[in-house]
Amino acid sequence: MKRRKFVQTASTAMGGGAAAGLLGNAGLGRESLAAADAAPGATGAPQQSSLRVNGARVNAHLAELAQFGKNPQGGVSRVAYSNADRDGREYTMGLIRAAELDVSIDTAGNIWGRRAGSLPGLKPIVFGSHIDSVPEGGNYDGHVGSLGAIEIAQRFAEAGVVTRHPLEVVVWQNEEGGLWGSHAATGALTAQELAQVSNSGKTIRDGIAFIGGDPARLESARRRRGDVTCYFELHIEQGGTLEKEKLDIGIVEGIVSIARWDVTVEGFANHAGTTAMADRHDALLSASRFVEAVNRIVTAEPGRQVGTVGRIQAFPGAPNVIPGRVQCSLELRDLDEPKIARIAAAIRAEADRIGERNGTKFTISKTSTDHKAALSDPAMRAHVGDAAKLLGLSTKLMPSGAGHDAQSLAKICPMAMIFIPSVGGISHAPTEYSTPGDIVNGINVLMHAVLGADAGFSQEAK
Ligand SMILES: [Zn+2]
Repeated sequence: MKRRKFVQTASTAMGGGAAAGLLGNAGLGRESLAAADAAPGATGAPQQSSLRVNGARVNAHLAELAQFGKNPQGGVSRVAYSNADRDGREYTMGLIRAAELDVSIDTAGNIWGRRAGSLPGLKPIVFGSHIDSVPEGGNYDGHVGSLGAIEIAQRFAEAGVVTRHPLEVVVWQNEEGGLWGSHAATGALTAQELAQVSNSGKTIRDGIAFIGGDPARLESARRRRGDVTCYFELHIEQGGTLEKEKLDIGIVEGIVSIARWDVTVEGFANHAGTTAMADRHDALLSASRFVEAVNRIVTAEPGRQVGTVGRIQAFPGAPNVIPGRVQCSLELRDLDEPKIARIAAAIRAEADRIGERNGTKFTISKTSTDHKAALSDPAMRAHVGDAAKLLGLSTKLMPSGAGHDAQSLAKICPMAMIFIPSVGGISHAPTEYSTPGDIVNGINVLMHAVLGADAGFSQEAK
């Protein structure tokens, strides 16, 4: 059972200052969002419920953006800090200007488009994504959420929609290389991080300068808890669930935790012709059994956890030598961190048993590349759900198996993500594709979720 509730409190009791104070609270829940929003001058959602974005225009803009860094396979190679990236950003800033937003580049190199709200003191509602790609990537990952956000601002300008909160459209820089732009805006980059070399060949420091940032003054790009009301990101699913289940919209429950280990198997390298099968300590044989065990253990219980051995190398690596040592990776992902720990323990125990069978030894050590799970905010999810319902679209609550800038924002404000179907579940490849209709659906959902968060509408599940 669900019911729709419009929260309205006495307008005189809640001045702009008090509202701003509430928004400064760390854990902004549905109540505080609604209370802060229940103020005079509300543009009522009933009048705005028929508002839709211009689908033909935004799909044309996506096709234009795809020209920057276009590759022969039909996708783009627009890695961050390349000339194609810089040109694509220029194009995007033109769209932001045309949408009557005040455009600026922060010192971390992120692009912002701002629009004032009607109520003084409120912190901005931020929404956007990224436009950089992986090498030989596709035309939709990040682009849909970025140009979709700009299209919404354009529609608001045309339709004369004035929100109470200021709105900020953001295009994060270098998402694909490791969420660098959103990471810089919500934390602090270390000297070591700034010295890392990105896919463009430039260091993060030089890259930020190349796209118009100022790596010496990163602090001024920093957003802290209380600076932002909330963050929405629209993105392609990058998996095949929505398409397979014939659903329109994914409401992201959270971005999964990623845990990684380095695995070493030690055996004994010996002559492949003279060592009897019974006398071998074959590290690669053990590693093969380990790969199979990871798959078996991860799939042994219900849930959406995934486990992968994605890299493997045998030493010395000759056809006539029994492998004496193997190095491989192990990666587990799920929203539930205790579940990851439990599965990892089961894998370790099984690795020990595998090792004992042929006199080999497993050493499994945690790497430093872990990511914590980032959960979306229930009140924000409700705004997305309300928006989808208004538009007559089907939804599914689902985890994001891929990393996104939204996980950086989750550290400082409530966030929610909206997924649209990826045809064939393909992503990070030139054949990545989402239909124009699904793109328009996703942008309309984002628009109405933003309006919902602004107006304080929420649908309370019972
Ligand atoms: Zn992306």
